[in-house]
Amino acid sequence: MIPYGRQIISDDDIECIVDVLKSDYLTQGPKVPTFERAVANYCNAQHAVAFNSATSALHIACLALNVGDGDIVWTSPISFVASANCALYCDAHIDFVDIDLTTGNMCVEALATKLVRAKELNKLPKVVIAVHLAGQSCDMQAIHRLSLQYNFQIIEDASHAIGAKYLGHPVGNCAYSDITVFSFHPVKIITTAEGGMAVTNNRELQQRLSLLRSHGITADPAQMEGENHGPWYYEQVALGFNYRMSELHAALGISQLQLLDKFVEKRNQLAQIYAKQFDALDISYLAVSSDCYSSYHLFVLQLDTDCAETHKRVITDLREQKVFAHVHYIPIHLQPYYQKLGFKQGDFPNAELYYQQAVTIPLYPDLKPEQQAEIVEKIKNIL
Ligand SMILES: *Cc1c(COP(=O)(O)O)cnc(C)c1O
Repeated sequence: MIPYGRQIISDDDIECIVDVLKSDYLTQGPKVPTFERAVANYCNAQHAVAFNSATSALHIACLALNVGDGDIVWTSPISFVASANCALYCDAHIDFVDIDLTTGNMCVEALATKLVRAKELNKLPKVVIAVHLAGQSCDMQAIHRLSLQYNFQIIEDASHAIGAKYLGHPVGNCAYSDITVFSFHPVKIITTAEGGMAVTNNRELQQRLSLLRSHGITADPAQMEGENHGPWYYEQVALGFNYRMSELHAALGISQLQLLDKFVEKRNQLAQIYAKQFDALDISYLAVSSDCYSSYHLFVLQLDTDCAETHKRVITDLREQKVFAHVHYIPIHLQPYYQKLGFKQGDFPNAELYYQQAVTIPLYPDLKPEQQAEIVEKIKNIL
């Protein structure tokens, strides 16, 4: 089976992990801060805080922005469920903004329209979570402009997009957001097995992210409320979690980061090859805007059909022929859990049409040209 995504682990990666196992620290040692510094530098951001997953990072990002009971958070329905669940963890209301069918990202016009209506109803969102689908940044300048007008905060869910650029600058520089979150799950661009990172340019947010990642406990006298009892003293000043990244995971991340640009370059080359071949076959795929350099986490075909049967047949046939095609994503509002919250079929028509058309085909840095040709040939024959 050719998977849709796959990690690359080098001998150097393995050596870095073994070194940690032989060292004094398996957790809370020097590797996590080193990895944080490296990611912050890579993105031109001031601060980075590592987590045990992007899901944890999104949860704490919401808490750090004071999302709580009664608050409203908006995100894209075409994302992994974690982009929306993070708001529910904080007892907030979640709602969605429909997507643009050419990029699959949140549609800025739909956002603007929904904001006008929300203002009339006095139901403006506190936070908008912009998801960079498949590795392409959302139109962050436009979303940021709206945030100034309607006074909401912005989290970028860049789980797909480390190594991507927007207007020539790295995704994660937080030029148009409060916090950006990356995932290091093995199908993503670089991996720590499980892991995530939140980056920000705001020192107070960095402190809140760090505090809530680790039980709400601090050993920093400046953050304490009481009198320091002595060198053993720490205080719990908020209700936090244990969402820390271990030294093993961070060591893998430091090592993987060195190959990030190469991985993304290779993904772009392979995507160009796919693009040329599918253009010749008149088969559509997610477009990348000229403002963006995509990290190409995913290559998504958009079938020229709204027939669920055709869509299903293409994916089933591909899997039978040992090509593990997939769908990213089932619209979140159609998940049973979200239907119980009151969302209905028809709420976000573009997202629902997108779902009927989307087929993710294999893309990862060591996918071979022969495999790519084979995949294209099979798709041509099935269609
Ligand atoms: C993978 C992913 C997440 C969750 O990442 P984890 O590190 O697995 O928790 C969140 N949002 C999006 C868009 C993702 O693709």
